[in-house]
Amino acid sequence: PTVGVVRESNDGERRVALVPKIVPSLIGKGLDVVVEPGAGEAALIPDEAYAEVGATLGDAWAADVVVKVAPPSDAEVARLRSGQTLVGFLAPRNADNQIGALTAAGVQAFAVESIPRISRAQVMDALSSQANVAGYKSVLVAASESTRFFPMLTTAAGTVKPATVLVLGVGVAGLQALATAKRLGGRTTGYDVRPEVADQVRSVGAQWLDLGIDAAGEGGYARELTDAERAQQQQALEEAIKGFDVVITTALVPGRPAPRLVTAAAVTGMKPGSVVVDLAGETGGNCELTEPGQTVVKHGVTICSPLNLPATMPEHASELYSKNVAALLELMLDDNGALAPDFSDEILDGACVTRSKENA
Ligand code: NAD
Repeated sequence: PTVGVVRESNDGERRVALVPKIVPSLIGKGLDVVVEPGAGEAALIPDEAYAEVGATLGDAWAADVVVKVAPPSDAEVARLRSGQTLVGFLAPRNADNQIGALTAAGVQAFAVESIPRISRAQVMDALSSQANVAGYKSVLVAASESTRFFPMLTTAAGTVKPATVLVLGVGVAGLQALATAKRLGGRTTGYDVRPEVADQVRSVGAQWLDLGIDAAGEGGYARELTDAERAQQQQALEEAIKGFDVVITTALVPGRPAPRLVTAAAVTGMKPGSVVVDLAGETGGNCELTEPGQTVVKHGVTICSPLNLPATMPEHASELYSKNVAALLELMLDDNGALAPDFSDEILDGACVTRSKENA
């Protein structure tokens, strides 16, 4: 089978679905890799780098399996034909996704977001690999917007206290944010509604903020809070947030608008010059004053809501994503190297979003 690596067309998307480094192992599995000229350009990967490892440059859209990063546009869906397979982020929970169009076109589509979060699938878990990038970069954004140092500095001109950093929502991105802020010398605290996170927070040298709300939900995710819990949480956080120089928020509930953790009143309570980095902008934001995709200053506090941070680090984000995609591709091959996804495997069954489960 052929695997087509296409050039991303979304604004600002600099990642590529497969980097040259991963190509030899795919070829070793019997796959032919076809790369659209320029596919790696935004990630600073020249076409020649693909050619050197045995890929061909050509019409990647005609391949048996097309691998992508961002969800396809209308024009991209129109380039696919019946019987082809597509692998990528397909935003299955977004109302405006293309899954209906892909199904109608007869394309077999695998959404990396729908891969079950089980141990065996960790190597394919693109949500996690990209959340690591976002969590890391969120801290750099905060540090660069901050009017203060992160580390404690002892200089001849006096001593500077370390920045206090609060991370709200400690999944994969939040944990990486805590670890990164710690490495920069910040004094870190983490908060989540899943109590099992407390040990992970402590393991990266952060304090655990306990507000007494347990909202562990299905499949390792959080559930949405009740109105009473939300009010209690917002009020408690209003008090807690006052003392922090930097607040990074990553709280998400699958398929729901981002929970509002940081109220306007909480922002008002922060010292001028403090920074909020809200990673939940795509689903409305965790902070009431967030303007998705923008950096705004409100009450002297800088509130950043960068979208698609992984695309700002295309080299390593693509490298990690490639590993995820390659592992999923390998799982789709049968013993003879033919493309024959076995839908009795819960990973493939879960990830395939264009197959009617009734006919399974
Ligand atoms: P996510 O991006 O869906 O959410 C980020 C965090 O926000 C979560 O920790 C969630 O508990 C928290 N949150 C939601 N509502 C909140 C609220 N009102 N207040 C405070 N925090 C709130 O999470 P994720 O990073 O995708 O991780 C989800 C789960 O999947 C975790 O349990 C993670 O450990 C697990 N996971 C498992 C595997 C695996 O075993 N293969 C791999 C990766 C992640």
